[in-house]
Amino acid sequence: MTEKMYADAGISAEVLRLSEEVLGELEERFAAIDQIAEYNQLKVLGAMHKNRVDASHFAATTGYGYNDSGRDTLERVYADTFHTEDAIVRSQITCGTHALNLALSSNLRPGDELLSPVGRPYDTLEEVIGIRPSLGSLAEYGVTYAQVDLLCDGGFDYDGIRAAINEHTKLVTIQRSKGYASRPTLSVSQIGELIAFVKSIKPEIICMVDNCYGEFTEIIEPSDAGADMVVGSLIKNPGGGLAPAGGYICGTHACVENAARRLTSPGLGREVGANLGTNPAFYQGFFLAPTVSASAEKGAIFAAKLYERLGFKVHPAGDAVRHDIIQAIDLGSPEYMKAFCLGIQSAAPVDSFVTPEPYPMPGYDDDVIMAAGAFIQGASIELSADGPMREPYTIYFQGGITWYHAKYGIMLSLQKLIDAGFEL
Ligand SMILES: *Cc1c(COP(=O)(O)O)cnc(C)c1O
Repeated sequence: MTEKMYADAGISAEVLRLSEEVLGELEERFAAIDQIAEYNQLKVLGAMHKNRVDASHFAATTGYGYNDSGRDTLERVYADTFHTEDAIVRSQITCGTHALNLALSSNLRPGDELLSPVGRPYDTLEEVIGIRPSLGSLAEYGVTYAQVDLLCDGGFDYDGIRAAINEHTKLVTIQRSKGYASRPTLSVSQIGELIAFVKSIKPEIICMVDNCYGEFTEIIEPSDAGADMVVGSLIKNPGGGLAPAGGYICGTHACVENAARRLTSPGLGREVGANLGTNPAFYQGFFLAPTVSASAEKGAIFAAKLYERLGFKVHPAGDAVRHDIIQAIDLGSPEYMKAFCLGIQSAAPVDSFVTPEPYPMPGYDDDVIMAAGAFIQGASIELSADGPMREPYTIYFQGGITWYHAKYGIMLSLQKLIDAGFEL
């Protein structure tokens, strides 16, 4: 019966057979992911129980948003899940880049230096920092930037990092996920080692982790490994596919307080910021996030194994242990990139009839192609694929609120590659 459904949905018998073959090898991997989801489900529930979440917390507030107990309790739930002193979780934080900019610009002062010991940061942070000159960047405010690249084998350049830390170094930014780079994603334990090293040289350095796409892929988070701040987007993992917008910063009181005052105003800080009705989605999305992240991770592994078998280079490799939900596949040509995206788009519940085309995007240097037919505009926890149009034409694939949708989307991407001339 399901075979006929797939045939009607445009999947050839050959693609179906190949997919089922690949899936046959993945039972143990999937069981391990389910175990992590189970652990994290209990962690989130525990935080909700501890903070006595009740229906009154779902009420909308307007105006200044004073005494918004739903908003404040949600922030406690985040803090207790990430095991931090404090958290700020707001729809007024518009996206991941904004959350990172907020964490950085509120905790750095003129004359301070920001250090990235893990190489070039995510594309959009280049303008935040001023690596690419930009109006309003940290550079314009007199914050300098230093970078130490990873070694060829992906390891940390400890000598380089020691040499780069100086009396001005105030904050270290560590990106957990590879983003649009081809370096490996860092595990929480690797991040913990790096933080311990940085603090052994200069204990007062603030260690911030860009946690985008990493949440709930392990049973611990970077904040369990010494990070002073973990930062991310609610239209990725922790929003569970339901949060309509938003970002979070979990960390020490001091760091979060700085961020709150920068987000709103000195003197007002976290006391203002109406939730405008977003609370039910924030709570329920966070409740779903462990299983949603697990579905997305299954999709990533399935894609890696399938495309690896067809001879494509994939990062991480099909059998690698993974620490985020992103799968990169070197497709080798603009045509295959467009075909892959067409498959993902055609499988989407929304905008399935649309053809993705490369386009200039704010914050990105190259044209970017994006496939997403999402309930929440641009939500990349929903099944989506994107990538900058540059050699080696790597597509970054992520998301899937349900595993079966992810599976179908990946199968359809292969089908469209075959339509574009790829031979099995
Ligand atoms: C997505 C992402 C960002 C930026 O988030 P936006 O919500 O797209 O602004 C930053 N860093 C990493 C690693 C990301 O994956």
